[in-house]
Amino acid sequence: MGTQALDRAAGWLRASGATVCLTGAGISTESGIPDFRSRDGIWARFDPKDFDIRRWLGSEEVRRRYWAAAREGYRLVSGAAPSAGHGALARLDGAGRLSLLVTQNTDGLHQKAGHRPERIVELHGTSHVCVCASCGEKLPRPEVQARVEAGEEIPCCRRCGGALKPDAVFFGQPIHPGLLARAVEGAEAAEVFLVVGSSLSVRPAAALPERTLLRGGRLIIVNAGPTPLDSRAHAVLRGRAGEILPPLAEAALA
Ligand code: NAD
Repeated sequence: MGTQALDRAAGWLRASGATVCLTGAGISTESGIPDFRSRDGIWARFDPKDFDIRRWLGSEEVRRRYWAAAREGYRLVSGAAPSAGHGALARLDGAGRLSLLVTQNTDGLHQKAGHRPERIVELHGTSHVCVCASCGEKLPRPEVQARVEAGEEIPCCRRCGGALKPDAVFFGQPIHPGLLARAVEGAEAAEVFLVVGSSLSVRPAAALPERTLLRGGRLIIVNAGPTPLDSRAHAVLRGRAGEILPPLAEAALA
């Protein structure tokens, strides 16, 4: 990554009247949480079909496998500390330089880093809350985790007996329309759209930067691997978010 590209991108961030950031699993890999599609990502160990809502609801065996993996996954998530990348974005937010942060992540690390919750749209929900798939009852994930750690293989709702799942969007589940509308509105009003740690392969999140481009805004991509929008971006800063974002934020706030 050249410093010229970083300086140019920092200049756009500094001058922008409205900046939206979209983060993906890549910003949390430096916090020890694997992403989906990298070589040692989650799909290398688990079957994506087990995250399909119809299959999950239709099979006790799938739910048993899912919870065995989720028990392990939540130990990682609940113990994780925000990365330098999360910290840099929280600094930009604290200085009023980000109008909205849209995240595909469900790990809550932006909030842990000090980012203002009201400026965050968790497009795919959160891992820190569980919801009953039958009656909609919500309860804190740590409560469910404690039950799973104590030996419950498939935790069920104590009110109606329905299947409990994290309040995160599975494949085949719709995104909350209000959340999507807020993200789309932000993207359409953005002068600069900053993508961090996303392969831009999961829609509708992946389509958000295109809305900014269509309205004449600039696109900056900070990612370790290639994305389908690299050729249309104004700057592509290739590398680790934790190494690129701190100097980028510092230069943008100078
Ligand atoms: P993805 O796995 O498709 O892509 C991650 C991207 O991040 C890759 O292109 C990779 O090259 C890049 N990357 C990895 N480490 C990086 C680093 N240190 N710095 C910069 N880039 C890095 O993830 P996605 O685009 O977010 O989409 C997949 C789905 O994954 C989302 O729906 C999200 O809900 C879910 N997910 C979330 C978490 C989490 O909450 N932490 C973890 C895994 C998956």
